[in-house]
Amino acid sequence: MPRLLNVMLVCLMMLIGAGVPAVAKDITIDGIRFGQNGTTTRFVLDVSSEATPSIFLLADPYRVVIDLPEANWRTNGDVKTSGVVDGYRHGLFSPGVYRIVLDLKAPATIANSFTLPPNGQYSHRLVLDIEPTSRSSFLSAVQSSKSERPSFASASVPDVTAPRKRISGKRVVVIDAGHGGPDPGNLGVIGVHEKIVVLEIARAIRDELNKTGRYQVHMTRDRDIFHPVRERFRIARRHHADLFISVHADSIKNPNVSGASVYNLSETASDREAARLAARENKSDVIAGVNLAEADDDVSSILIDLAQRETMNFSAQYANILVQELGRDVPLLQRTHRFANLGVLKAPDVPSVLLEAGYLTNKSNARFINSSDGRKKIAQAVRRATDRYFQQMVALGR
Ligand SMILES: [Zn+2]
Repeated sequence: MPRLLNVMLVCLMMLIGAGVPAVAKDITIDGIRFGQNGTTTRFVLDVSSEATPSIFLLADPYRVVIDLPEANWRTNGDVKTSGVVDGYRHGLFSPGVYRIVLDLKAPATIANSFTLPPNGQYSHRLVLDIEPTSRSSFLSAVQSSKSERPSFASASVPDVTAPRKRISGKRVVVIDAGHGGPDPGNLGVIGVHEKIVVLEIARAIRDELNKTGRYQVHMTRDRDIFHPVRERFRIARRHHADLFISVHADSIKNPNVSGASVYNLSETASDREAARLAARENKSDVIAGVNLAEADDDVSSILIDLAQRETMNFSAQYANILVQELGRDVPLLQRTHRFANLGVLKAPDVPSVLLEAGYLTNKSNARFINSSDGRKKIAQAVRRATDRYFQQMVALGR
């Protein structure tokens, strides 16, 4: 009976977690423009129907976040920004919420926001007038726009704390495709964003592991949608994962650098490049317009310390094996096994690695990891490594 209640509770929570009913693609965004009038920057979106946005501001860095219903983005290429707006990103933030993030060069507030009905060649429009302001008035605008911010606490399913139980005798592997939605990751020389490349690799790994019949495989995302860093390892914990693999693709100024590398969690980075990588990957939430101040700390550092020691040993074992298996037919970076303080690897009880599949800034490496042949080789290496790792676990009586 308690078990049934548990199941019912989890189902109920999943329903609540689903939040907004999944009405796919509520609107279409057909155009985006920036214009300048004195010091005022005007931002215009062409939308297929009148949509009421939630608009709020975030500090450090200065950002304007516009949340719309789930949208189809139909405009091609990047549009030039102007005035106080430095850049923009967009994508599916959570089911039912399409997010546009504007980066500001300096503090600025929304002087005006309104919608316009169709007129002549124009469809419905959403207009924002953005005006430079002082830091202190920006910060108070951040406070007053707070109510427009979606709350993660209510939208996510709580962690499952029950002891790990293996369903159907299969090991549980969670594959995490990095980035997604308004956080595109790196854009390499082949013009495909990291979020797209890694989703395809993650799918290939899932399929390869599924083929063996030995694993129960879950993905943190199977479409172009955002998850906060913390949410990714929470998904792994919810599934009682035995192994968590986060898939990314690297970038660097030097176009000659190429090859895969595997990262384990460490408070101190193994080298400068690893520290830079951690800084970049950990910025995911900022890029997608998440308010970091509100990210709750669910795992205390003491807990991490105790449980993580064993987990970190297993993580390091897996990383070692993975590097060997990748080395058979996937190009490797010279220093392949590395350490960095990566937020996504911080589940205290799930052995976790981050695989940087290759460099999007090296043409042939980028082509390799974005090809079906490359994906297959990566996926097969992960499968061989996973087989070997769990064989060792069995030998250890785990
Ligand atoms: Zn990445």
